[in-house]
Amino acid sequence: MDLAFERISVYHDCLRLGQTTVKDEVLRCLESARSQAHLNAFLELYAEEALERAEALDQEISVGNFKPLTGVVVGVKDNICYAGHQVSASSKILDGFQSLYSATVVERLLEHGAVVIGRLNCDEFAMGSSNENSAFGPVLNPLNTSRVPGGSSGGSAAAVAMGACHLSLGTDTGGSVRQPAAYCGLVGFKPTYGRVSRHGLIAFASSFDQVGVFGQSVEDVARLVTCISGRDDFDSTCTADAHECLVPKGEKKLYRIGYSPSWMSSSVLNTELQSMLKNFLEQSVKEGHTLIPFEIEGMDYAIPVYYILATAEASSNLSRYSGLNYGVRHADADSLESTFKLSRSQGFGPEVQRRIMLGTYVLSEGYYDAYYVKAQRVRRILRDQFQRIMSECDVFALPTTVGPAFGIGSKSNDPLAMYLEDQFTVLANLTGLPAISIPLGSDEEGMPLALQFMGSSFQEQDLFQAASQFCIKEGIKNI
Ligand code: GLN
Repeated sequence: MDLAFERISVYHDCLRLGQTTVKDEVLRCLESARSQAHLNAFLELYAEEALERAEALDQEISVGNFKPLTGVVVGVKDNICYAGHQVSASSKILDGFQSLYSATVVERLLEHGAVVIGRLNCDEFAMGSSNENSAFGPVLNPLNTSRVPGGSSGGSAAAVAMGACHLSLGTDTGGSVRQPAAYCGLVGFKPTYGRVSRHGLIAFASSFDQVGVFGQSVEDVARLVTCISGRDDFDSTCTADAHECLVPKGEKKLYRIGYSPSWMSSSVLNTELQSMLKNFLEQSVKEGHTLIPFEIEGMDYAIPVYYILATAEASSNLSRYSGLNYGVRHADADSLESTFKLSRSQGFGPEVQRRIMLGTYVLSEGYYDAYYVKAQRVRRILRDQFQRIMSECDVFALPTTVGPAFGIGSKSNDPLAMYLEDQFTVLANLTGLPAISIPLGSDEEGMPLALQFMGSSFQEQDLFQAASQFCIKEGIKNI
């Protein structure tokens, strides 16, 4: 019997029947990570402690103790704190910094029986769409190593796709879970803003940031999200009920699917993706679902608005990295000013510096009303519009990306082309709505293409239910 991981439910059956152990599974994951170290997905493997924990969990299983995530092997993006472990946001400025406490999501993973296997590479401070902005080098796509895995949570996507963990945590500020999931053939989910605590997450743009999840199936992702969700005294924006079960029930339903005809056939989409999306719509009608077309106003402004607001928030959030309290201080610093200047110039990479400058500019006196305030107004228009749309349909379907994973280096000298990567993902962050990317098929070269669904605020169970029904190909098997 092939015991390679497929689904948590199947894995738990195998554990119950004694056909495998958590220790065996952790060893298999470690071996998979080590033999594919060239992909650069892991910044650190917690081999010894993961094995110790596996043994303890095997003990619990032997006396019949099972929790929803018992023995589930999870990788964590390098911008989520884990007490006593390093966290660097893949930046030199935090080199050597150790977390003093664990993020709420990490604590909840552990409470529910998961094994944390390592720290995953990402774009520096989660800024990027290709994982080429990490101070520790790019991550390669496990399905084709000349392509990017997507970003900023590229390491989190690659680790699951290469079979080095069952699920992983990423963060999604403008698409950083859904886009890499699309590029690696996985399910990638961003919660409603306020469902999952941000406590212990290194802030990029606080009104957008959410912890998201990668997995091979909608069902597993929903199970993990159920475990990490809910109110947290450390994050006042996190208001969802804890313990609300989000796992889809498996029954088939007929849906009212909202969509924008011009987006689904947009000329920016690659032709194979265009025809797959067309098939999806036609097939949905044949199966009895109702399609509801919407024309969305202000879509052209989504990217500019996102990059004005996200950089504004980032410039403020990143001011704390001054060379005084955290991480690296430049060796030649000999005054307050030179400490700031030298430490920040040396510690931050070019993309982070670009965003700090952009964010500082849009917040500066004289430009604040013209850019920041106007962008907030457009954000509100988009949000109100989507609230209306979501009251008339069950899910809103749209592309996740414009095509398959692109070549490493092909966009790194063109920040604008890179920013346009996010045109279909930023909407969910601007509006705060939950969204999920699911595999739709593969192109001629075998690279995955994806479909995205947005759902109503805090209605994740419905979203997962729909996604599991339409998930044509629940993840690409370990390779
Ligand atoms: N690619 C987007 C950006 O660079 C989104 C990043 C993210 O979601 N963390 O801002």
